[in-house]
Amino acid sequence: MHDVLQDDIAQQTYPSATLYVVATPIGNAGDISLRALHTLSIVDAIACEDTRNTGHLLTRYGLSKNLIAAHQHNEREVAEKLISRLQAGERIALVSDAGTPAVSDPGARIVDAVRNAGLRVVPLPGPSAAVAALSASGLLNDQFYFVGFLPAKAKQRETFLFGLKSVAATMVFYEAPHRIHETVAALVAAFEPTRHIVFARELTKLFEEIHRCTLAEASAWIEADVHRQKGEFVVLLEGAPVASDQDQLETERILKILLQECSVKQAATLTAHITGQKKNALYDRALQLKGEADDAGN
Ligand code: SAM
Repeated sequence: MHDVLQDDIAQQTYPSATLYVVATPIGNAGDISLRALHTLSIVDAIACEDTRNTGHLLTRYGLSKNLIAAHQHNEREVAEKLISRLQAGERIALVSDAGTPAVSDPGARIVDAVRNAGLRVVPLPGPSAAVAALSASGLLNDQFYFVGFLPAKAKQRETFLFGLKSVAATMVFYEAPHRIHETVAALVAAFEPTRHIVFARELTKLFEEIHRCTLAEASAWIEADVHRQKGEFVVLLEGAPVASDQDQLETERILKILLQECSVKQAATLTAHITGQKKNALYDRALQLKGEADDAGN
């Protein structure tokens, strides 16, 4: 490794009695950071989702370590063991099968328990499928709402998606390949057909594909090639349209007229129905307008 980089890596301290949360590649093994490699090489043990997967990955980097299985079914018990080892002064790394631990992956409970025990937790940033997909999507929105996996049951999924209808930020979904078809159908049923959707498939792998289209075109794209129902997917959905200045003026006009005849609550509810805007925000604005009108009347 280049000497200058060695200096950079060494500048950061790697205290003992610390849990290192290390991001690993989401496909291409070359995406590991130099600092992640350094950390994995100095720790006393690595807690990982699947010891076989992590064992293979470490072999590719010429590393061999004591591995501790830490998956969603044993996180609490493992946390206790890790805490004892950390209290004895060890350095332990936490990794998942791919990407950043605790992001739609096991790890959050362990981190929580370790922090609650007053021990230090240090992140080693690196790949995450959500951020990689966002970075190459071209969706012009500086806010995103990370959903992760949707509920698997149709009714729950429908209710959940209904609750997202007015989210203005770009929404980020993770999905298993065998469910991509029904997830797209659920998105098509829940949101306006003109919204943009981005499929980021097999990121950093040989058959990487990033496709953007409208929701109206989404099912046809998935069905056009059987390979598109395989592999790993991040799905991005454009947020709810933001009202233009013209729309905003019209909303204000409707709210004012209704406030002359109805209560604040009724005026906000009716305006929300007419304009499709959020009731809570309209209620706040209606209260303000009513207050101004009352002040002017006094
Ligand atoms: N912790 C990981 C991260 O930071 O991205 C996510 C783990 S989650 C169990 C696995 C999901 O991440 C997959 O179902 C898929 O939605 C997404 N994913 C992981 N690797 C991917 C890749 N190479 N391309 C596209 N999506 C990927």
